[in-house]
Amino acid sequence: MAASTSDGGSAEQSNNPTTKDTAPGTEEFCPGFKDVDAFVKHGLGAVVAATKASAALPQTGDEFDFYRSFPAFQDFCDLQGDRLIHAMSQLMQHHGCRSLMRDRNKLTGLEDRFDLVVESNDVILEKVGILLDEASGVSRSQPVMPAGYQPPKIVVSSWNRKGDGHGKETFCLLQARNIQRPQLKFKEKVDNSNMPFISKIFIKPNATKPLPSYFTNKHLRKERPEDLDVPAALADFIHQMRTQEHMDDMFSHPYQHELERLVMPESLGHKPEPQMYKPLAETSCTFIDTLEDLVALNEKLAKTTEFAVDLEHHSYRSFLGITCLMQISTREEDFIIDTLELRSEMYILNESFTDPAIVKVFHGADMDIEWLQKDFGVYVVNMFDTHQAARSLNLGRNSLDHLLKIFCNVDANKRYQLADWRIRPLPDEMMNYAQGDTHYLLYVYDRLRADLFDAANGQPSLVQVVWSKSRDLSLKKYMKPIFTEDSYMEPYRKQKKSFNSQQLVAFRLLYGWRDKLAREEDESTGYILPNHMLTKIAEELPKEPQGIVACCNPTPPLVRQQLNELHQLIKQAREIPLLKAEVHAEKKKSVTQKRQSPSTLFGPHDVSHVSETSFIELSSHETPIKDGVLFSEEEDTNLSGDMKSLSGLVAAAKITLFAEEEDTDDSGHLTVAQQKAHSIMDSFDNPFRMYLPSKDIHISKNAKYDPSSKIYEISNRWKLQSVEQQQKEVQAKRQEQEQARRAREERKKAKQSYQQSLQNVSTVRQQVMESKQGGQKRERVASEAGVETTKPHKKVMKSEEETPVASATQEQAEDSNPSMFFTPYDYSQSTLKVFAGGKSKDSTQFDPNRQAHERKRKKNPKGQKQNAAGGRSMSYMPAKSERGFRHNWPRR
Ligand code: AMP
Ligand code: MN
Ligand code: ZN
Repeated sequence: MAASTSDGGSAEQSNNPTTKDTAPGTEEFCPGFKDVDAFVKHGLGAVVAATKASAALPQTGDEFDFYRSFPAFQDFCDLQGDRLIHAMSQLMQHHGCRSLMRDRNKLTGLEDRFDLVVESNDVILEKVGILLDEASGVSRSQPVMPAGYQPPKIVVSSWNRKGDGHGKETFCLLQARNIQRPQLKFKEKVDNSNMPFISKIFIKPNATKPLPSYFTNKHLRKERPEDLDVPAALADFIHQMRTQEHMDDMFSHPYQHELERLVMPESLGHKPEPQMYKPLAETSCTFIDTLEDLVALNEKLAKTTEFAVDLEHHSYRSFLGITCLMQISTREEDFIIDTLELRSEMYILNESFTDPAIVKVFHGADMDIEWLQKDFGVYVVNMFDTHQAARSLNLGRNSLDHLLKIFCNVDANKRYQLADWRIRPLPDEMMNYAQGDTHYLLYVYDRLRADLFDAANGQPSLVQVVWSKSRDLSLKKYMKPIFTEDSYMEPYRKQKKSFNSQQLVAFRLLYGWRDKLAREEDESTGYILPNHMLTKIAEELPKEPQGIVACCNPTPPLVRQQLNELHQLIKQAREIPLLKAEVHAEKKKSVTQKRQSPSTLFGPHDVSHVSETSFIELSSHETPIKDGVLFSEEEDTNLSGDMKSLSGLVAAAKITLFAEEEDTDDSGHLTVAQQKAHSIMDSFDNPFRMYLPSKDIHISKNAKYDPSSKIYEISNRWKLQSVEQQQKEVQAKRQEQEQARRAREERKKAKQSYQQSLQNVSTVRQQVMESKQGGQKRERVASEAGVETTKPHKKVMKSEEETPVASATQEQAEDSNPSMFFTPYDYSQSTLKVFAGGKSKDSTQFDPNRQAHERKRKKNPKGQKQNAAGGRSMSYMPAKSERGFRHNWPRR
């Protein structure tokens, strides 16, 4: 990395034929060549000659060994070999890559060298991509940055446009083109499988009901011989289904019991005296990217009575999205946590986040609650959402910047809200922005509460309402997008056209292709193929592959790469008998109206859209983006009950198994939940869909009805689930009541269980110490395929001795015993590509956004800021109102 940043820039200047080919005049293009053509011709000739020569060398094996027995040949080979390696090393160094030469002694085998060459090729190709981009005018006015960075751009965007007459709101879509995919560094690989989300929790602080054994015993799970022919994660899941052991537990909210019994803390029962925030300039802002610092922060938080929290998230270059940053503010200090770095350690914050004695203040927590679960297994008990408070006060505008304006007279600059938060090191501007998101929040919380008291004639009733709404938000469960046979109908209905049978089949096939690829490659579906392009292809049904390309401008990289596959899909659709799809047209009419193709937008980083008008105008904090889909709250609440149930059905991607509560009590239609369950069960009909070759996304009928097949067996079992599930729900209700009676008993049990789990776990402090000594804190343990690995001292909880916990349930562990090894399920060992993130075939594919090798980041948390400011020339472009130049792929 260091090499690439230091000399990469100059290298670009001197060695880029593509950038210079536009140079006018008669002067030589480069010494000895009058123009590009001459240069290319010469280069090509040299390459062909070299290829021929290498083909003429003695073949490996006997022939080579024979030649090698002549000392002269051996000397010649060694000499030429050295020359070649030297030349290659120079090339690699020139491009800022690790070179063969430098590491020569350390390298043991050919394989390592080969890897180095592959890495370097990727880097070089990446640069070529950028230069081609530039040559074709994508970013002409900007200097080409060394691998790793692209100058940020400011784009005037209609995202969040308020239409309140200011007209000056610009948004900074800070974007770094060559950001290394953070997914590559995740210790636990992302699970993009088409399976419902299962909580990541494995230890439950502040419990009054113990964590179900399913979660605490995760690490004990063994490979099951009967399921060898299915991927490990799926096998695990099927096992649960078979045994019925943990079905309720797996999908329930781990803190449901605690949250439902939570009462508003007394401190909220009185009108507060607002406590002024510390001036921003005088407040220390700590960047946290080590486990040690995170532990210290957790200890600090445990002593507070309230703190403010916010998250920044990225959703364009990942299927499920990635939480990139967590900001926390106490009354005294601000903290910014690098959650890309500490993703697997964030769970330790559960200690303070689920402590009912500490109020966690969020603004617009809807998405934050889900992201915390999805990425960290973190839950929130006792939360206060200032957005809900603003709504209750009828302030008109409920966005954070508005609150900051009226309470703090601060002009919040929400420009960076849509920045690419994966950028590291974090530029100063973004750091400041992030800090500002929580810095004032506790004061805003005071002011809002005071106003709520005033609005309720000095009574706590309104605060209670807001607090209850906030608690309901905490009860939200993250739902993974589930692909079903009918998923495509939602986007189909949203686009205005009505398709004939061929077009509709094409639409369905493309949709399935896209979902599968997005999961495999861990990209958003919007990155793979934006909706409007998908629609265009289905509509045009191009006869030639080139016709597909013509429907996409710019052509997404994966479309280009899989052009043949796509061509085959379209061909398949063209073979369908041509029928006008009146039924669908009718259906469409009834559903389309209210919602305007929101799902076409995959986060702010997808601007592959034709016109500005296709963007919906929304206010910033009031309308968080959901799974890449913008939902306006207003729209939602305006929907009639019927519309709601329809949209519930239509939004297949949001459905999960047991999402009953939200919908049933909202709309009063019990059938919605049932319908949802059915639709899910239908999708379970074929749990293997995701694992089949792309062509037959639908399982063959024969297999389904062939009793000897595994699919038959499982599909039957899964069908049975839907009936059993309903019975189970009734049962579960009964159990709940019984449980309430035995609450006291359970409390005791919880205590014991928590103590037990603590006994088995080394303290975080100890872990830090050990890892420091071992110097191998973040190493992944290699393992055999399909077998769970044991990762020493990874997941640990601190003990009471070290942290006096300000917990309402004061009974905590007395001592701890550093002996338990916990291993999160290692999806990377699965042979399946659905669990993206592992090294897959794509290492040879050209992706300008992917770094081939993991460059070791210099651990320099303190120097972070200086780095960001000094190391890179962050020149911001003046705002432009034109769209369409901020694409992530090279335009060719
Ligand atoms: P905030 O709550 O303002 O800190 O936003 C948190 C994250 O939500 C940001 O990092 C964005 O990823 C996402 N986000 C917020 N507002 C929008 C929006 N209007 N459109 C798209 N993404 C948004
Ligand atoms: Mn937020
Ligand atoms: Zn934020």
